[in-house]
Amino acid sequence: MGKVDLHSHTVASDGTCTAQESIERAKNRGLTALGITDHDTVAAIPDAIREGERLGVEIVPGIEISSVDGGRDIHVLGYYINIEDAEFLTRLESLRDVRNIRNRMLVEKLNELGFPVTMAEVESRKKEKTGNIGRPHIAEVLVEKGFVSSMQEAFDKYLGQDGAAYVNPPRISPEEAIDMIHKAGGVAILAHPGLYNDTQLVERLIAYGLKGIEVHHPDHSEEDEKIYEQMADKHSLLKTAGSDFHGFRNGKVFHGDLGERSTTVDTVRRLKELAGK
Ligand code: AMP
Ligand code: ZN
Ligand code: FE
Ligand code: FE
Repeated sequence: MGKVDLHSHTVASDGTCTAQESIERAKNRGLTALGITDHDTVAAIPDAIREGERLGVEIVPGIEISSVDGGRDIHVLGYYINIEDAEFLTRLESLRDVRNIRNRMLVEKLNELGFPVTMAEVESRKKEKTGNIGRPHIAEVLVEKGFVSSMQEAFDKYLGQDGAAYVNPPRISPEEAIDMIHKAGGVAILAHPGLYNDTQLVERLIAYGLKGIEVHHPDHSEEDEKIYEQMADKHSLLKTAGSDFHGFRNGKVFHGDLGERSTTVDTVRRLKELAGK
């Protein structure tokens, strides 16, 4: 049965590959279908669908929405959203506004910590003019300027949840993210719950109307997979899988490589069913 990777980023957000490059790689790595799930944008989807048709890889249109709960980042994946839904697109714009404010706050904090980094330098790391800036772009600048020796060090010391420069201005709640996705005809799935280490939060979001859980993710331990698989089964939720491919940084795959975590076309069929497609 065909392999499917339901989580990947392109240059529309903080990935380093264009949709075309990702799809070519997906095909070479034997994937039947690929989910494109950029942070707070669906800008890559039209191109991806076109390239997917050309190359014979089914594209699962998606998004990864950044929300905040108790000061922590919670990512909600949305699949098969109507990407022409005007209200949805307006809401994404305001999410990107918050993201831009957050980026400036991070840079200011880095400056206060004694690292002379500018927004212009961060902007210059974007692979596509219209793309979103994310923390990986900021991490790249820290590596490039020699303030840290690796992307991981940049996150561990400064940009990650427990990092010295971490800031998180108010954003929408995960519940609002779920609503946004469902209102636009999509299917809301909780991204990488293992990273939040909070089963109560997951139960709360399931009760709220989550349709599935990303059980398989490169940052999940075997224990995480067991916990979230059981939780999904208990509530008859969809179990998804994805590599969270972000392309390459410093010559290495940043996060998982395409297909490193995968599910089957049956999951795609069920996502479509839930979206009424
Ligand atoms: P942002 O959307 O700007 O908040 O950035 C989120 C992205 O930063 C994630 O998709 C990851 O690519 C990366 N990221 C966040 N936390 C970490 C971490 N602790 N280690 C490595 N990468 C991380
Ligand atoms: Zn990312
Ligand atoms: Fe994420
Ligand atoms: Fe992601």
